Amino acid sequence: MDLGLAGKKAIVCAASKGLGKGCASSLANNGVDVTICARTSETLEAAAEEIRALGGGAVTTVACDITTEEGRAAILDACPSPDILVNNAGGPPPGDFRDWDRDVWIAAVDANMLTPIFLIKATVDGMIERKFGRVVNITSSSVKAPIEVLGLSNGARAGLTGFIAGVARKTVGANVTINNLLPGAFDTDRMNGNIAAAAKKTGADVAEMTKKRAASIPAGRFGDPYEFGEYCAFLCSAQAGYITGQNLLIDGGNYPGTF
Ligand code: NAD
Repeated sequence: MDLGLAGKKAIVCAASKGLGKGCASSLANNGVDVTICARTSETLEAAAEEIRALGGGAVTTVACDITTEEGRAAILDACPSPDILVNNAGGPPPGDFRDWDRDVWIAAVDANMLTPIFLIKATVDGMIERKFGRVVNITSSSVKAPIEVLGLSNGARAGLTGFIAGVARKTVGANVTINNLLPGAFDTDRMNGNIAAAAKKTGADVAEMTKKRAASIPAGRFGDPYEFGEYCAFLCSAQAGYITGQNLLIDGGNYPGTF
């Protein structure tokens, strides 16, 4: 299917690895010029080379921390009028809420709630003027079904979700959609790191725990960042203009609810 995206411009945040890189790859593959960021220049450039090798849209890199004002200014400077914005940042660490002080909470809210809100604020009016815009926020299945050890993620992402529910209805009349894409368990550094940390805590074998975790998902496996990227590209497509304000799970059937 031609997604009607050739020549569009996208900002894809936190895209040197994992889900962000999956989204940047799928968009570029559909002819989108992507501007990607991550904090470490070396891994960012390596990711850019991989995406360029797909032979699609152009790839521009900005080495920055997207959770800072300077980082957001730098990526907006490189791509001031994006048609597509994919919001993403590293997830907060697991732990016990008794150990989290105000600074820890503020860091989580900054990364997983305020950063996407400020990037939407900076780009959405241009999208409305041009009568085309697609915003995809990478959030988490924890928005629908909280993950106990990820209280920082459960809390901060719920704030973003509530905000998006309101604003997404204000922009869709100008063909600007805003949706949240909720990953379940995907085979990325982040997820493998979380499993390794949990195994260390209980003295379990990492390989054994990984196998058990994959087997517990109805699909019997972890998701591939490529699958996530393809869903994101569809949500950004010309055809997806009637989908807005949604929280869309991609989790191999792991969420057990009917709705
Ligand atoms: P990952 O660790 O594989 O990749 C994270 C990417 O973000 C890397 O490119 C890293 O360099 C970049 N990054 C991190 N912090 C940044 C910052 N401050 N500024 C710029 N770049 C930054 O992680 P992932 O698995 O792709 O996860 C992406 C998001 O999805 C996270 O918020 C995570 O919590 C969430 N998530 C992931 C899963 C999963 O199974 N992988 C499940 C639910 C939610």
